[in-house]
Amino acid sequence: MIVVMRSTARQADIQAVLERLGEHQLKGHLSQGEERTIIGVVGAAIPPTLREELELFEGVQEAVRITRPYKLVSREFHPLDTIVNVRGIEIGGSSCVVIAGPCAVENEDMIVASAQAVKAAGATMLRGGAFKPRSSPYSFRGHGEAALAMLATARDETGLPIVTEVMTPNDVELVARYADVLQIGARNMQNYQLLEEAGRSGTPVMLKRGLSATIEEWLLSAEYIVATGNPSVILCERGIRTFETATRNTMDLNAVALAKRRTHLPVIADPSHATGKWYLVPPLALASIAAGADGIIVEVHPDPDRAKSDGAQSLTFANFAAMMPQLNAVAAAVGRSVAIPAEAVA
Ligand code: PEP
Ligand code: MN
Repeated sequence: MIVVMRSTARQADIQAVLERLGEHQLKGHLSQGEERTIIGVVGAAIPPTLREELELFEGVQEAVRITRPYKLVSREFHPLDTIVNVRGIEIGGSSCVVIAGPCAVENEDMIVASAQAVKAAGATMLRGGAFKPRSSPYSFRGHGEAALAMLATARDETGLPIVTEVMTPNDVELVARYADVLQIGARNMQNYQLLEEAGRSGTPVMLKRGLSATIEEWLLSAEYIVATGNPSVILCERGIRTFETATRNTMDLNAVALAKRRTHLPVIADPSHATGKWYLVPPLALASIAAGADGIIVEVHPDPDRAKSDGAQSLTFANFAAMMPQLNAVAAAVGRSVAIPAEAVA
């Protein structure tokens, strides 16, 4: 349920509603817009009489049931777009974010070189895995904390904020000490303890859609994070399992457009994991922006043929740089922009 307060409501009126919710063992989450305040009511059992009860309160305009199973992430609760701020970079605003870098941090030289190259081409954030979820236990699983330190060096060198994956609740504290955005991978989308621990860290979280997750399940997972009091969640569509085997996954652009309608959270797309083939990454990156994505996350490697993971889907520095002006053109066509340096546009 949401409680819509009148524009004339006083702080004391809001407080009175929150207190009554507390008496019912319910929690009120405030969404304070310029015009009005909305209180999102969440809890296990909302009494059937609560709506009428609250509508009698001073300052309350109306109380409305939220029809979707997810509440706080729903547009019904929060009609305006949420903008997640990462070290001054806004995700979900008019400019599309480009997060680029290798699948895994292999050594310091390669992550610093990657950071410099993607920055020169116009990327605004750096990706790189330290803890890698791999389908086979014999594949390279990342350098762990040592790789986090290398990411921090790359950030110091370039100023690019870092996005990196955390795989277990126990590692959240460690990874959050280095990361600007905690990535929760597709395989962990429904690891509810991890979602809550990441939420409680207060660090922005990028939540990838599970391999076979419905859009509703994905948004319910985001709800777990936001319900901890952390509103900074970025959704990432990264392709889903279908009958098709010619590509690694099937990029679900329906999900990008629909998620943007159902939730106020920013939605970005990962054409690298969605396609599994480097030459399909630029067209799907462009399509994602055209479909309304708030940005993309792509894998870029100094030498994809020798990458320790996901080389087949990694762009070279040159291919990444060539894609950026195209991305900017598509963004402009849909009323957005991509932050790219002037020399790359020429
Ligand atoms: C990754 O970003 O390298 C990754 C493992 O992604 P996903 O969880 O989408 O497979
Ligand atoms: Mn990868």
